[in-house]
Formats: sequence, structure tokens, C-alpha cells
Amino acid sequence: MDAFFRIRTLALHTFFLVCAVAFVGCGNAYTPSEDAQLGKQINQEIEADPAHYPILNDAAIRNYVQSVANRVIQSPEVKFRDVFPYSVKVINDDKTVNAFCTPGGYIYVYTGLMKFVDNEAAFAGVLGHEIAHAELRHSTKRITKAYNTQILLGIVLGKNPSVLEEVAANLFTGLAFLKNSRDDESEADEASFRYLMSTSWYPGGIMYFFQKAEQNGQSGSVAEFFSTHPSPPNRLKTIRDLLQKNNISQPTETQLNTQGYMQIKRQLQ
Ligand SMILES: [Zn+2]
Repeated sequence: MDAFFRIRTLALHTFFLVCAVAFVGCGNAYTPSEDAQLGKQINQEIEADPAHYPILNDAAIRNYVQSVANRVIQSPEVKFRDVFPYSVKVINDDKTVNAFCTPGGYIYVYTGLMKFVDNEAAFAGVLGHEIAHAELRHSTKRITKAYNTQILLGIVLGKNPSVLEEVAANLFTGLAFLKNSRDDESEADEASFRYLMSTSWYPGGIMYFFQKAEQNGQSGSVAEFFSTHPSPPNRLKTIRDLLQKNNISQPTETQLNTQGYMQIKRQLQ
């Protein structure tokens, strides 16, 4: 390699590095409507795979879950309710205590989670948490970050940029990108609290879910939730601090709706 070629190569690499770093800085390479488009594609994939995602065919239960989500997204904190569909589907699988939300707001809740939870505020809190992952656009931020790492690596190692397409394909395999980071979890917990503040539910609802999960040692069927929503440190304390900061006292039955929720659970039997 002659000196001129080396310098030119170095200059090019520097140029691409600067561009890539600028791209990193923007945080998300997707627009919100692209999040919705991506979610639509994933939703189609999920619907085409009933062996893994058996959708519960029960209009009453689905309408109930949708109505809880609809109340949560009325929060002034939810910005993308006109861009994201925020449609809910229930997966008929009692052994899995989990819920997830694709980019762009396609929400999936397992019957296992519905049965695990003991009151409506807790259920709304978990839905709020899932909605927050879409609102805060955690998945597409993560995809952007993974892309950028590959761009940087590709430039440094001098690889063909077409490797990016492979990276994108791999990211979608097994919906791996739906796995959240601990920072995303903290953000989603706090957002769930804020969303519920504008509803008649107890804003700390999600706390009941975490408390029960902790009693179960985060193992067994509930382990699934923590595999895609890893617990940040002091998770419960964060919610308790928010309750204290907002002067929120002990919840009433109206705020929890334990009785109403028990009836829904009976319908699930
Ligand atoms: Zn989460």
C-alpha cells in the first residue's frame, strides 16, 4: 500500500467514522410511523405462527384488555396514540407469565399473566409498562444502536457494508430485539406510573405484580417476564419513592378493582 493510498483510506475511514458517530448521536434512525410499520410486519408474523402464539378467541376478554389499554393511552403523557394502533391481543398460554409490545404499539398479553395478577390496577400497570416500551421507542433505539455498532465495526475492519442487511435479518430472528435493557425497564416502570396518574387506578399498580413475582423468586412461569424485562436494581423502591413524592396514600378498593378483576379471571377459566 503506497503512502497516498494509505492517507486516502485513513481519510475515508475518518469521514465514515464521523458520519457514523453523528448517526449514533441521533439515537433512533426510525421515524415513529416506521415504528408502526415495523410493528405491523411483526404482528403479521406473530399471527401467522399460531403454534408459538395461540391467540385467544374470546371477544369479551379481548375487549376487556383493549378497554384497559384504551384508558391508559388517554394519558397526556402518551404522544403516539394517533400514530400507533395500540391494539391488544391475548395469547392463550397459561404457563407463560409475560406480555410484550412491538415497536409501534401492538400489545400481546399472555393468559398466564392475566391469571397471575390479582387486581386491575396491577394489570393496568403492566399494560402501561408495555405501552411505555412502544412510546419510548426502546426497540428501534436498540436496533439503531446495533446497526451503528456494526457500521463502526465494518469501517474499522474494512468490511463490506452489505453486512448490515444480515445484521437486520438476524435482529428479527426470534423477536430477539424485544428483549429490553435494565435502563429501558426503569424508564418503562416510571412511565407506567405517570400514565396511571391520569386514570382512576392506583398509579403504583405495577408494584403488586413485582411483589408477587418476588415472592415467587422470579422463577417458574413468571421467569419468562424477567427474561424479556430484566429487573433494574431497586425496582420496587423506585415505585414507592414515586408514590411518596406524589403524596399518594394507600389504595382503596375502587382504585384497585380487585373484585371486578376476579370476575374477569373467572371468565378465563
Ligand atoms: Zn419491560
